[in-house]
Amino acid sequence: MDIDDHAEELASDLGVAKEEVAEQLSNLLEYRVPLEEAKSSIRRKHGTDDGGGSSTPTAVDVEDIGVDGGPVTVTARVLTVGTRSIRYQGEEQTIREGELADATGTISYTMWEDFGVEAGDSVTVGNASVREWEGEPELNIGGSSALSTAETVEVPSEVGGERSLCDLRPGDRGRVVEVRILEANDRTIDGRDGETTIREGVVGDESARLPFTDWQCRNVLTEGADLQLDDVYVRKFRGVPQVNLTEFTEVTPVDRAVSVPESAPRLSVAESVNSGGLFDVEVVANVIGVRDGSGLIERCPECSRVVQNGQCRAHGEVDAEDDLRVKAILDDGTDTVTAVLDADLTAEVYGGGLEEARAAATEAMDRSVVSNAIAEEIVGRAYRVRGNLSVDEYGANLDATEFDPADGPPARQASDLLAELEAVE
Ligand SMILES: [Zn+2]
Repeated sequence: MDIDDHAEELASDLGVAKEEVAEQLSNLLEYRVPLEEAKSSIRRKHGTDDGGGSSTPTAVDVEDIGVDGGPVTVTARVLTVGTRSIRYQGEEQTIREGELADATGTISYTMWEDFGVEAGDSVTVGNASVREWEGEPELNIGGSSALSTAETVEVPSEVGGERSLCDLRPGDRGRVVEVRILEANDRTIDGRDGETTIREGVVGDESARLPFTDWQCRNVLTEGADLQLDDVYVRKFRGVPQVNLTEFTEVTPVDRAVSVPESAPRLSVAESVNSGGLFDVEVVANVIGVRDGSGLIERCPECSRVVQNGQCRAHGEVDAEDDLRVKAILDDGTDTVTAVLDADLTAEVYGGGLEEARAAATEAMDRSVVSNAIAEEIVGRAYRVRGNLSVDEYGANLDATEFDPADGPPARQASDLLAELEAVE
């Protein structure tokens, strides 16, 4: 049966002109409304609803859900369910968040009521509104929505929240990870309910390391513990993804040793920058330049901002303190990123600390001799740089924890030198 035959059948059932029905039908099909749904819709329109189909006529595929349209009805597989408590219009409210998918795509959702769904369930969501969240459509499933069980929807996406740390992205909800606690420290903060103690630190698995915050400050999260964290969410904090445990996160020991490699994952500059932020990553790239604000710099003693001519942007005229820093532009052919070296790493590439830098600047009566000397040393050479990569409105920065020439670890060069010296003695 082609569209024409369907139109003919509808027209004779409804007692209306075939042309009219054919046009309505082809319009609906153009918007990818499934054929049976389209026919029910036309029947309803002509006042002979057969009672079939779902509660609203706008059943759509996930890939066709746009932010401009009205409420939708969609049949999909629940991929993940995360539970979180938020304050909404002054009220404490428990919401469910995660992703739904059908064969055409994936969409995130927020459920404002407990419909009792679990990852893996196939459901028809009737009358869900669509809002824009971080540039993407998101389904809002609330009191006026209807949820019913559907036949299993086959999806190309992974069902369930299990992920490696390297695959976590800000905005992820309902994730399940198996990690080793690498660092854990308690901190008291001014939370929304007054002073509260949280536990912060670093978790690792076979793929990566990430910072974490446990808002419940569980004692089981101690250094060396191997744990499954069921239902965590990920947000961007200080430019990198952070794993968050809430009151709804289930923490259980795992009976295997989670091994965390010593080295950081090595990525191209483009891969690192496109990730939007990574904790502990390694790139190998050429230094193609040194930015302004490198070398012997001055900082505000109150806020640590870099000051120029003794003027802090926030504190005005201050008694600035000297510091050393390098902002090196790295390029590996795929993209560029600015590596930021702290005072210790800067002293290594400069070959001297604050005292030496001050002496050189005084002798030349020009502070820029320090950054010039650094540029001479590092520009045009390849380096292996490890650190935390953040991306914000100011660009991509790699906060370096290691900065070594790519052509050989300096540790070996140093020991060779030492061996030579000993041989001389
Ligand atoms: Zn300041």
